Amino acid sequence: MSEFDFICDLRLLTDLDPALGLADDAALVPAQAEVVCTDTLVEGLHFIGDEPAADLAFKLLAVNASDLAAMNARPTHALLNLSLPGTRCDAAWRAGFIDGLGEACAAFGLQLLGGDTTGSPAGLVLSATLFGDLEGRAPWRRAGAEAGQRVCVSGPVGAGALGLADVQAGVTDTAFAAHYRRPTPRLDLLGLPGVTACADISDGLIADLAHICRASGVAAEVDLSAVPLANPAGDAAAQITGGDDYRLVFTMAEGTAAALPADCSAIGRIIPAAQGQPLVRLSGEPAIAAQIEARAGYTHF
Ligand SMILES: [Mg+2]
Repeated sequence: MSEFDFICDLRLLTDLDPALGLADDAALVPAQAEVVCTDTLVEGLHFIGDEPAADLAFKLLAVNASDLAAMNARPTHALLNLSLPGTRCDAAWRAGFIDGLGEACAAFGLQLLGGDTTGSPAGLVLSATLFGDLEGRAPWRRAGAEAGQRVCVSGPVGAGALGLADVQAGVTDTAFAAHYRRPTPRLDLLGLPGVTACADISDGLIADLAHICRASGVAAEVDLSAVPLANPAGDAAAQITGGDDYRLVFTMAEGTAAALPADCSAIGRIIPAAQGQPLVRLSGEPAIAAQIEARAGYTHF
């Protein structure tokens, strides 16, 4: 597959209107583009390199769609910048990559707006910029949490960390490996009433909740016994601090938490920030709290 053929196939994923059929020097900004995000995946840093091309393409769009979900925005359009070593990214690889892009576009309601494809003298660098539509909703910011509000998470945490461990061990046929390679952005939660602040879990539940606390000027107390785990029999500290999860951690005003969707859990409460205290305080499971606090990097929370 030549580069020209590759771009021809990308045209199948295109919104002809603003993208102008990928035939012009630039695209028009789509009318409903209110929220924009971008994320880059680098071989050796964010992925190993021997993953199926379709999975890499899917994850590239999924992690960006997850950032839009965290902002209460529905993905509409994508720009792609792909730097591919020609020696490895042959015709079959490129065809697989297009398949994965197509699956993600269909799953997340995305259309391609444009982009750029180059060679790469070293590894793969895959970057996507997504535009999203608030559809009349207010954006969810990280800065909206207030003392007294509930802290909630959208489903069990840890599947990303467990999946990475599986993939690194060469085991790719587990549900955790599938979650790691093809995360599901929680677009089904868009418009959830009562949400006051939100982030998607890319760095780990505790780290991303700390981001909300820092932005809001508050602290949080998490009841570790209430945190749902992807593998309840596994290493709880690793799952609670593991990244690549793409669940949402969010705060809700008191009184609206009763309306939590079935797979979401209330795991703690926002409290006033206090000088010299961590932004995220852990209760409920002292042994697990000690393991989390002993992990390198926890102190910066
Ligand atoms: Mg994010």
